[in-house]
Amino acid sequence: QNQAQGKVYQFKLVLLGESAVGKSSLVMRFVKDHFDEYRESTIGAAFLARSVQLEDDVTVKFEIWDTAGQERYKSLAPMYYRNANCAVVVYDITQPSSLEKAKAWVNELQRQADPNIVIALAGNKSDLEARRAVPTQTAKEYAEESGLLFFETSAKTDTNVTKLFDEIAKLMPRDQ
Ligand code: GDP
Repeated sequence: QNQAQGKVYQFKLVLLGESAVGKSSLVMRFVKDHFDEYRESTIGAAFLARSVQLEDDVTVKFEIWDTAGQERYKSLAPMYYRNANCAVVVYDITQPSSLEKAKAWVNELQRQADPNIVIALAGNKSDLEARRAVPTQTAKEYAEESGLLFFETSAKTDTNVTKLFDEIAKLMPRDQ
């Protein structure tokens, strides 16, 4: 809490999902407003922060954990989501298998993470409409049944990225 920003709430957010769905790219777009077609994969966990100004006097600060190498280091994942307040589970709209992987992450979170965790499902690479293999409706219905926020995003064209994080911020608990 400080006078310039009013009330500041800080939350830990974790990104999960199959490799190459665009987790790091979404974080880069959100935090640095930058997209890199040829970026190297993150090794280990990268940590970045960005604040969202909700109202004049409310700021939500996200500590973002981008957990790379989850396939190889799956046993480390609980360490990242254990005390997470929110999670973005990402799939790639051109890869149906990545939605299956996302569902597995959602199950794991709903069983093992904090029961109050806010989970958003992000269907990334929405700019690749010509190669779409996951209908919007399929993912949307799944998200509704499972109590998840849902957005189709593109880190490349900056579509729905701010919206995704804004809507999560609005759902985070604050005192009256
Ligand atoms: P991660 O392994 O899930 O962190 O995925 P990356 O962020 O490393 O992205 C994997 C690849 O997909 C990279 O070549 C990115 O440039 C590309 N990519 C990420 N997001 C998008 C997107 O929204 N649209 C398109 N067309 N490519 C993307």
